[in-house]
Amino acid sequence: MIDFELTELDQEILAEVRRQALICRKYARDLDENEAEFVPKELPEAKDFKNPFSLMSKHTEHDTPLSIMAMLVAAGASWGDYSVRMREDSGGLGNAALRASGTPEQIERWKDKRLAMAITEPSCGSDSKAIQTTAVLDGDEWIINGEKIFVTTGCRADGVVVWATLDKSAGRAGIKSFIIMKGAPGFEVTHKEKKLGIRADDTAAMVFKDCRIARDHLLGLNENIPKQGAGGFRAVMKTFNNTRPFVAAIGLGMAQAALDFTRDALAREGVEVDWDGGKHSRSAVQQELIEIEAEIEAGMLDALHASWLSGNGAPNNLEASIAKAKGGEVARTATSRCLELLGGLGITRDHLAEKWFRDARITDIYEGTGQIQRLIIAREILGYSSSELS
Ligand SMILES: Cc1cc2nc3c(=O)[nH]c(=O)nc-3n(C[C@H](O)[C@H](O)[C@H](O)COP(=O)(O)OP(=O)(O)OC[C@H]3O[C@@H](n4cnc5c(N)ncnc54)[C@H](O)[C@@H]3O)c2cc1C
Repeated sequence: MIDFELTELDQEILAEVRRQALICRKYARDLDENEAEFVPKELPEAKDFKNPFSLMSKHTEHDTPLSIMAMLVAAGASWGDYSVRMREDSGGLGNAALRASGTPEQIERWKDKRLAMAITEPSCGSDSKAIQTTAVLDGDEWIINGEKIFVTTGCRADGVVVWATLDKSAGRAGIKSFIIMKGAPGFEVTHKEKKLGIRADDTAAMVFKDCRIARDHLLGLNENIPKQGAGGFRAVMKTFNNTRPFVAAIGLGMAQAALDFTRDALAREGVEVDWDGGKHSRSAVQQELIEIEAEIEAGMLDALHASWLSGNGAPNNLEASIAKAKGGEVARTATSRCLELLGGLGITRDHLAEKWFRDARITDIYEGTGQIQRLIIAREILGYSSSELS
């Protein structure tokens, strides 16, 4: 039987996340307006609050599966703010790639480091097989040359998982990923982006100029020249099946924040949803509030489903893309619909509604845009390869 009840421990964890989210909100506007600053590693209030993840250590098989709790925690934290946390999160997207594709030795060696992920280049975004960064083996070292842009946490990370090609003519088959730590000769972070939203997040550009790294920095293989699949495109792409539902949940947390704010603001003006009356007896505003809520809930169920599958070791390529496509779209449209309902209140910087609208936009762009997710969904359902449908 499917059971959607939260246990006492689940509720304790989520209540703690909510308490901390409200504290994080106090810092959100200031960090948004001072984009050059970095989010502190720890907020001054941190000593008074437990790490919600420490509560997870009490988790038993009777509690909600961790794959589901991770989604609820992600949405609950971004309900507070996209970037501000009581304590800095330990991992970036590169850590997810390390866990998904690293050898046991590599995982042990770099598991405590914060790793960003660098795929995108000035001339290649959605079409990631077109990357131009090269990797050439020279004795016991790889020489990396190329340029990467839009690297999340690129400034603060200890290192970065970099996609590079061994053979440009081989397309996907030539692409491998490499762990490059800060301080490697020839590796330079050149720029921190100024952005529409998620301004407290650092987004970096970086250059690799004859950058030398040891041979065993090839992700997924530490001995020989890569055999098929090791550290390669397909293996690392699997990372996204775990992280896309997360991105959806994060966007939906922001959408929920905007909806809660809007609902409260309208209630103060005497507009409250009449749940008992039918569609035809409600005002357009009441109906809009209900539809936004339904969309957020539908998106969240998609994210939970995709994450539950991966938590059970089941394939979720299709479901992860459905979750990301739906979650990204709802994050973008729900925050916009809320601004419409709020009128002028929505765009004033006295409140966070306009910030949630700006912040939510990214969830439909990175880790594959909404259009790219729809392509993946179509391929999965219709049975086309990426060369047949692109
Ligand atoms: C704040 C931020 C953080 C990011 N973080 C990272 C990161 O950590 N690591 C990283 O590697 N990258 C990161 N990115 C890059 C992000 O993943 C890319 O921006 C995204 O993949 C889109 O690539 P692009 O910007 O080159 O757009 P393009 O690929 O040029 O796409 C432009 C438009 O065309 C559409 N389009 C493209 N191809 C198709 C197609 N075949 N069919 C239909 N429509 C299509 C797209 O959906 C989009 O609407 C980040 C970007 C931002 C803005």
